[in-house]
Order: sequence, then structure tokens, then C-alpha cells
Amino acid sequence: MTELIVATKNQGKLREIKELLSGSDFKVTSLSDYPDAPRIEESGKTFAQNAIIKAVTVAMYTKKLTLGEDSGLQVKALKNKPGIYSARFAGDNSSDEENNSKLLKDLKRTPFKKRQARYRCFMALSDGEKIVDVLSGSCSGLIALKEKGTNGFGYDPLFYIPRYQKTFGELDPKIKAKISHRARALLKLTKVLKIYSKKNR
Ligand code: IMP
Repeated sequence: MTELIVATKNQGKLREIKELLSGSDFKVTSLSDYPDAPRIEESGKTFAQNAIIKAVTVAMYTKKLTLGEDSGLQVKALKNKPGIYSARFAGDNSSDEENNSKLLKDLKRTPFKKRQARYRCFMALSDGEKIVDVLSGSCSGLIALKEKGTNGFGYDPLFYIPRYQKTFGELDPKIKAKISHRARALLKLTKVLKIYSKKNR
């Protein structure tokens, strides 16, 4: 089995990526397995740049196939904020609860119908010598008027999917695993991984 390192410490993300890649030929590890890996400076101006920085930093250090994932929420009424700053929307080291509260506060005067939002996910794959590929996926919804449900992580209790009339916090994780930004990017990634495996056998 080939190892695939996911360059993240975010347990929510990691859980979803592991689940989505279960049954593949790859053994998924993460930064928790490489405590001495260099600190990742998320200095990019876009999701794609940050995904590449994560993948390349860790792949150059480990010389192993590494997946960098950068994702976040874009809210139309907030001019696509929080975007690449989703994890620290309410300030450095802010918690999911603090970020969700700030989002609700910033949208206080925005009616439900005008709360269109999009989750974005960018994934970069590197083997330490080159960037193998960069892929993306997105998922559209609305920001709910209050938090609902405890499934998922991050903004999920506020991310409402009209088709199911539920937030990701309320929805069965199996459905999120089919329609999320991360699932859509990972579907593309599995195709890239298959080709990569064949070439490097
Ligand atoms: P990153 O680790 O810099 O890519 O930041 C990702 C942040 O975006 C997370 O900490 C969440 O706040 C948000 N985010 C990304 N994907 C999801 C998701 O699937 N559900 C909820 N929040 C997400």
C-alpha cells in the first residue's frame, strides 16, 4: 500500500478524507504522524496557493506523496468572506463556535434568501519533486439564521442545503460525503491517484 500524507492537523477534515479514501490503495497518514515536519506558513493569497504550499512543504520534507488541502466558506453578501481566512475568521486561533457567532453577527441584517454561500475545496498533490496536480470542488448553500445540528465541523451547523432542507450539521454524514466540496474534489483526486500509481509501479 502506498502512503498518502494529508498535510493537516484539522481532525474534521482528516476524518472526512480518510473516510472518502477508504477502500482505495492508499494508506492515509497525517501531520500527527510527522510531529517534526516543518511548520506550514499559510501565506498564499488563494485556496490553490495555500493547498500547494501545504503539499510541497510536507512532501519536500518527507519525500512522500502528500496531499495539501485548503478549504473554506465564501458568503456572497460578505463579498466572498471569510474565504481563505475561514479557520481564523473571528481572530487567530478562534474556535468553530466563535467563527460561527461572528458569521451570524455579520449577517444579522441579511435576510435568509440573500445568504447564498459556497464551500470551496482545493487539493494539491506533490511527491517532493513536482506538483502532480491541483484539483477543486465546491458546494452551494445558504447560511441559516441559527446553528442547527452537531454533525460535521466548522461552519456545518450553519450551512443549509435547500435540496434537503437541512444544515450539514443535521444531515447524515453519508450525504455530506456525496455532495460536499471535499467529496467533489476527492472524486477527481482518486482518478489522479490511480494514474499516478500506474506510472510509479
Ligand atoms: P484551512 O484548514 O486553512 O483549510 O481552513 C479550513 C476552514 O474552513 C475550517 O477550519 C472551517 O472553518 C472551514 N471549512 C472548510 N471545510 C469545511 C467543511 O466541510 N465544513 C465546515 N467548515 C469547513
